[in-house]
Parts: sequence; structure tokens; C-alpha cells
Amino acid sequence: MSTSRVTLSPSRTVADLKELRALTGDANGAQRVAFTETWSAGRRWLRRKLATLPVEIHDDAAGNTWATLRGTSERALLIGGHMDSVPNGGWLDGCLNVMAGVEILRRIASQYDGRPPVTVRLVDWADEEGARFGKSLFSSSACAGYLDLDEARALKDKDGVTLPDALRACGIELERVGESGRELKNAAAYIELHIEQGPVLLDLDLPLGTVLGTFGVERHAITFKGQAAHSGSTPMNRRRDAFLAAGKMGQEVYTITGRHGGVSTIGSCTTKPGIVTSVVEECRITLDQRHLDAAGLARLLADARAASERFAAEGKVEVAWDRIWQIEPVHFHPHLLALCDEAIIETCGKLHRLPSGPLHDAAEVARTGVPTVMMFVQSLHGISHNKIEDTREEHLELCVAAFDRLAEKAMRWVASTA
Ligand SMILES: [Zn+2]
Repeated sequence: MSTSRVTLSPSRTVADLKELRALTGDANGAQRVAFTETWSAGRRWLRRKLATLPVEIHDDAAGNTWATLRGTSERALLIGGHMDSVPNGGWLDGCLNVMAGVEILRRIASQYDGRPPVTVRLVDWADEEGARFGKSLFSSSACAGYLDLDEARALKDKDGVTLPDALRACGIELERVGESGRELKNAAAYIELHIEQGPVLLDLDLPLGTVLGTFGVERHAITFKGQAAHSGSTPMNRRRDAFLAAGKMGQEVYTITGRHGGVSTIGSCTTKPGIVTSVVEECRITLDQRHLDAAGLARLLADARAASERFAAEGKVEVAWDRIWQIEPVHFHPHLLALCDEAIIETCGKLHRLPSGPLHDAAEVARTGVPTVMMFVQSLHGISHNKIEDTREEHLELCVAAFDRLAEKAMRWVASTA
């Protein structure tokens, strides 16, 4: 029997993350946009890291990579993350979770001589960010069975490439992505570590938090249609200006959100014909609304719709709404919340519970009924989706240690409930 055990080495996770940053980032930040060459390079690097472990590795029908450490029981503890990033993204979003998972696999494989009491699986979800096609959680929702195929078939990136074509280039058939659902067959618990991406833990001066659940989201494209007209010859009172109506929405969403709580964002605005000498014929804005409470979210949406119709009528333009995406608020599993609390208190003595504003793959898994929890680590500046995204190295090491404790507790819980 080998006597040299691999013990958990949180500093190795930090070193792995720096290596990945050097490989797939540039002066503007991380560039691992899903279904691009840099993303593929990042995933090949991940496979090389996993190759030294006694794990089986495969990609499922939705392009998610699974590394499976077989245990005595088929019942599985899943550890999730995502290698993909937004363009010019941060160095930790998504890949911290994956690399912490790799470190935990190293520790468990060694401690249990390659045969833990339950099966432990690391999943790298293929497209979490939805940066290219505006479809967040694409691959985990495919796996969880919540992907709307009709909607997905119609998606295009800014160059007009369709989602099915982009997927095919990576060896993925859109029509078959639902087959990835079989991966959840023996899933008994799902855990995910993530940077907070907001300022709550920073403001409380706490390194770690237990995540209660994720906000529900309504995400829509709103298109106002008026009439193009010469900017010099058309009197102001004769215009049917699509931008005027869209512009009023910018102020209105602040008023509506002030009334009902939650958060709302108009994240993009495009105009046609989009030239300096024409009144805007068509203006498309996107609206992202989030709330922890389902009724609150419904109120945000209803008020925004009513306002858009009012502004359209005032400006004699038309308005159409297209839902890009939607998810209900998700609340995590009470027993796993308690285990996460324990792991954090044992690691750093102080605890805070908070909801998640950003979306996470964990929400899709939780919706299928698999007991799920997430752990957050403090983000410096409270900023993410930006190259300045950062977390103190001592906090990165703490979170790997705490997350490993959670993994061990969750594994024992899964074993005890078989
Ligand atoms: Zn993320």
C-alpha cells in the first residue's frame, strides 16, 4: 500500500488558476467564450489536469465534460463549475469552481485509494455564460431538461451564426442535447463553489457565505417599430421615433424596480437604420429582471410591459416582446445549507447566508429535485464579468478548504441516506 497520501493543497488550486489565466487570458481578461477556440484550449488543459487521476472522462450530448471517480455506491456527489467566460471576463468566474473540484478529486482519490464510499463526479458545464447567443445556462438547462429547443434553434450570434451551426462545429447536435439528462440518473447531491460577484461579503468583511438560492429571472428583447425619416426634413411632431419610446424605458425600469424590489437592467440597445441622418425606425432593447420572490418578479414584468405599451402609444410606434429566457426563483436544500454552514464555520469561524443575484448552473440542477447548495467566496471590488474581478489569495485558499469540507460532509450524507 502506498503510504504517501495526497492531502488537499488549496495553494495548488491558486497555481492552477494562474496557469489557466496565462493560457486563455490576455491584457483585457479571460477569453474563454463557449464554443470558441480559446475555450476549447482551456478545456483541453483541464483534461490534462484530470488525466493524472483515476477518473473516467467523457463529454455528454450537450458538450458538458464529466470526470467520474467511481465509488462503492453508484449514488453520486456532483461538483459543478464552468470553464467558459464572458469576453474580457475575470480570472475566477466559473473556473475557480472547476479547479477547486479537481483539487477535491485529488484529495478524495488519494484518501480512499481511488474508491470513495459514493461516486464523485466533476462536471464542467459547456456554456454557462450565454455570452455569444444570449442564452445563459444553456448546457445545464439542456441536461436538466428545461431547454426550449424551438427557442434555441432560432438563436443567432452578432455575426448571424446560428446556435445549431456553432454547436455542430464543436461536435454537438442541438436536437440531441437533451440526452445529457441521463447524467443526472444517480445524482444524490450537487455542490458548487463560486465567487460572489457582488459586494455583500466584502461589505461584511467575511470571506465565505452559504447561498440560500438564486433569484428568478425574466429576460426579454423589446422591439419598438416606428418609421425611418430624414433627420432634417421631418418636423418633430411628425416623427414616429422608435428610439424615443425605448429611451423612456431606461428611466421607467428604475421606477418600477424601486416599487417592487429586485434588480432590472437594460443591457443592450440597437437601432435601425442606425445612421446619424435618420429618425430611428426600429429600436431593440434587452431587459433583464431578477427577484428572489416569484410574485415580485411577476410584478416587475407586468409593470414593464404596461409601460412599454404606454410609451409606444404615446409615440405612435409599435412594440413587441420576445422572451429570451426565464427561470423561477430556486431555493437550495435545507440539509445541504446546514452542512455548508458547518463547513464554513469550521474553516473560518464566521458565517453569513445570502441569496444569489447572478444565475448559476446549480439552479438548473436544483430544479430537477437533486439536493443542491452553493458556497460563495468574497469578491474584491464586488465586481465580476470584468478583468478587474479578483479575490484575495488567502480567501481563495480558505474557500477551497471549506468547499472540500462541504464535499466530505455531503459525501457522507449521501452514503448515509442510501
Ligand atoms: Zn460563473
